Amino acid sequence: MATPRPAQLVYDFADGSRDMVDLLGGKGANLAEMTRLGLPVPPGFTITTEACRHYLAQGEEPQSLRVQVTMALRRLEDKLGRRLGDVQDPLLVSVRSGAKFSMPGMMETVLNVGLNDYSVKGLAEAANDERFAWDSYRRLVQMFGKTVLGIPGERFEDELEATKQRAGAASDVELPVDALRELVETFKAIVAEHTGREFPQDPREQLDMAMRAVFDSWNTERARLYRRRERIPHDLGTAVNVCAMVFGNMGETSGTGVCFTRDPATGKPGAYGDYLVNAQGEDVVAGIRNTLSLEDFARLDPASHAELVQIMRRLETHYRDLCDIEFTVERGKLWMLQTRVGKRTAAAAFRIATQLMDERVITPDEALSRVTGAQLGQLLFPQFDPTAERELLTKGMAASPGAASGKLVFSSPTAVEWAARGEQVILCRRETTPDDLPGMVAATGVLTSRGGKTSHAAVVARGMGRTCVCGAEELDVDVAARTVTVRGRVLREGDVISIDGATGEVFAGQLPVVASPVVNYLENGLEAALAEADEETAELVRSVDRVLRHADRTRRLRVRANADTAEDAARARRMGAEGIGLCRTEHMFLGDRRVLIERLVLAETADEQEQVLAELLPLQRADFVELLEAMDGLPVTIRLLDPPLHEFLPDRTALAVKIARGEGEEGDERLLAAVERLHEANPMLGLRGVRLGLLVPGLYAMQVRAIAEAAAERRTAGGDPRVEIMVPLVGSVMELHLIRDEIDGIIAGIEEAAGVQLAIPIGTMIELPRAALTARRIAEAAEFFSFGTNDLTQTTWGFSRDDVEASIFAAYLEKGVFTVSPFESLDRDGVGALIRTAVAAGRETRTDLKLGVCGEHGGDPDSVHFFHDAGLDYVSCSPFRVPVARLEAGRAAVHTEAGGHL
Ligand code: ADP
Ligand code: MG
Ligand code: MG
Repeated sequence: MATPRPAQLVYDFADGSRDMVDLLGGKGANLAEMTRLGLPVPPGFTITTEACRHYLAQGEEPQSLRVQVTMALRRLEDKLGRRLGDVQDPLLVSVRSGAKFSMPGMMETVLNVGLNDYSVKGLAEAANDERFAWDSYRRLVQMFGKTVLGIPGERFEDELEATKQRAGAASDVELPVDALRELVETFKAIVAEHTGREFPQDPREQLDMAMRAVFDSWNTERARLYRRRERIPHDLGTAVNVCAMVFGNMGETSGTGVCFTRDPATGKPGAYGDYLVNAQGEDVVAGIRNTLSLEDFARLDPASHAELVQIMRRLETHYRDLCDIEFTVERGKLWMLQTRVGKRTAAAAFRIATQLMDERVITPDEALSRVTGAQLGQLLFPQFDPTAERELLTKGMAASPGAASGKLVFSSPTAVEWAARGEQVILCRRETTPDDLPGMVAATGVLTSRGGKTSHAAVVARGMGRTCVCGAEELDVDVAARTVTVRGRVLREGDVISIDGATGEVFAGQLPVVASPVVNYLENGLEAALAEADEETAELVRSVDRVLRHADRTRRLRVRANADTAEDAARARRMGAEGIGLCRTEHMFLGDRRVLIERLVLAETADEQEQVLAELLPLQRADFVELLEAMDGLPVTIRLLDPPLHEFLPDRTALAVKIARGEGEEGDERLLAAVERLHEANPMLGLRGVRLGLLVPGLYAMQVRAIAEAAAERRTAGGDPRVEIMVPLVGSVMELHLIRDEIDGIIAGIEEAAGVQLAIPIGTMIELPRAALTARRIAEAAEFFSFGTNDLTQTTWGFSRDDVEASIFAAYLEKGVFTVSPFESLDRDGVGALIRTAVAAGRETRTDLKLGVCGEHGGDPDSVHFFHDAGLDYVSCSPFRVPVARLEAGRAAVHTEAGGHL
């Protein structure tokens, strides 16, 4: 019987490609791709994620892996004519981790693997540079000791520093050979002391140990935490890249650098990068010496620079996107060490997408798919003035966008107290708990040193639109002492700081805030925004405009706004809303009008009741006239009164206390009796929605009359009112039939009296599971459905949002019950299933049934894609989210066209 051929666990760079990212990881797949393109990549091979998964599951590497590594190593040695760790002219390699998604916590790269007490001499001779050889060796022992053997990095760094001091060297390049030789001895002693065994001299053992350390690093605490936060599966594993060394530390004609094909911070066209002479690996980004710009590099080494520029262009052409590149020059010869499609800021994303579109490198549809609603959302917040001087203290996770400055406080009560006297405060905690809620409400911003995007601080801050930076791990928060220490600097209660919730940056002092130019554009139009903008801002605004207009041309979903007033409606229209999907009428009963509701509730006779309603009627009508005028020609969905009546009455306890103190006014006792009668243990599930319409005589009738009369008035005035009436909280078709009988009669009467045809569609919200499940019946009486996904989420999960968000969500997210709050992003499996059911059933009864959504999910990027897929006609969200919904609706359409593969 033939032994089955073992799986291929090792691929030479020359045999892979960028499509193999699952198996080779991002770094390996792109190294292979560059090799395939014929770029100067030092040869090497990649050990697959499959080998890693096997190792992690079995606790040891698959048998065949050792053999396959040997074969790959031999091919590499033969190709270069050198042997790993040979005593003469040794081959050295780097061992680099590289998972499908780059993530913190994975093992850092070990360079110069293969050096030992003998090969270091061979290297010195071959390179004719002793200093270089010993510098490389000390780097190996240092990196290997730290990352593979787990020895604290300071042990080595402190010794390096001490040696520099003794030698009077200002930087590492000035260290003489003898000092480096000594340093190697010291480092080896540290290794022996720490691990109880000598630094491994066998090159192959170095390689194997480093490989296993990379595998193990998949499961470090930090990596696991990061994957949980970013929703990356735990079972992907990481690949290991073994790459022949090239040396940037071989003197003045060598160096190492990083570059981007465009500026990833602003999106400015043209290459951008840093180069450091006589250095290796991360030196260039470590800030140990001053780096050169690409222009300086061009003067220093015109040939290498010219080649780099050419390669940058090839990579950008090949990837059709901004590329992020690492390179090294060894004695005047350029080598490419890494590339990937680069991360970028929101502003850069928009600018680069339109630049590439104008260069005809990508299609308009692709440009649309290269930006996200979340990025557009970030651009809508006020920002710190980009031209202002700033002092960065540290960086945490961008948890809830916005730019906030204020005095540091360390407890919730202090935040409340200081805010009450008019101070802006930033609440700084290690992490927050439900007890901190009052302080979070009072603060302008929240800063924590622990926890990720799903921590309590992040979830709650996002829920209430508060700026938040969380998990800024460099902060040492001492609540008792009311101080926070960052990189040795102590900040006290009352010191002013600024936090940027879109980038996670934390700054010292107060930074000036500027309004978002994109909001200016949305509010006042392109011309107005361009008039005030500098060149860079103008390009950004133009990009947003063009991408949004393309989204508008492409999308199938209509976008409406939730707006209650004419002012909101006008604003929503400027933001691109194509109507109102939800006008709540409850605010129309607040303020001065609250007394009318009191009188309505207290009315003892039908006469009295009618009189109150007669007083309310003209007020309501005037509200609707204004609203319909602001949205003339576009649909306006008005929801009949939804919340329980006691929300309009005084607080029960306050009123009782007032009376008990003898401070009650006339009628207060009757009022208290009414308040008590209407009191409910669980108002969310009590007398509200259509139940009010059926049980409080005349209330809905008055509202319908006001709506129809307003429409008639607008029509007579030459307007084009398109009002729709929506009945909330229906659970049974019978409820809707009963209400409709009343509504239809009233409208018919008004049409006759005014001599106009109003054609007002009557529909219902679908916000109870029973409504979704009986949608076939409900559609008999409804001309449209609007999914009220907030209540539908509450009733499907049995969550009372106000109660659970602060008390249990952080824990639920941490435990993985869900990965995102179902109030933030639609729960596709549960709530989404009800929606799909209702869509199908409703359309079965009525093929032209109009379907929309008016919960906050209508402005959530992920949810918009779901609503597109579910076949809804429109989404409706707060005016501010309208541009985001327009963009995402466009992206959803492009995504579907492309078969979900863009
Ligand atoms: P990261 O994932 O942190 O980017 P890398 O594996 O890219 O880690 O390596 C860290 C540094 O070492 C980078 O500056 C990289 O360019 C450099 N480096 C990696 N492999 C080699 C090599 N074979 N020769 C020279 N430098 C290398
Ligand atoms: Mg790198
Ligand atoms: Mg509701």
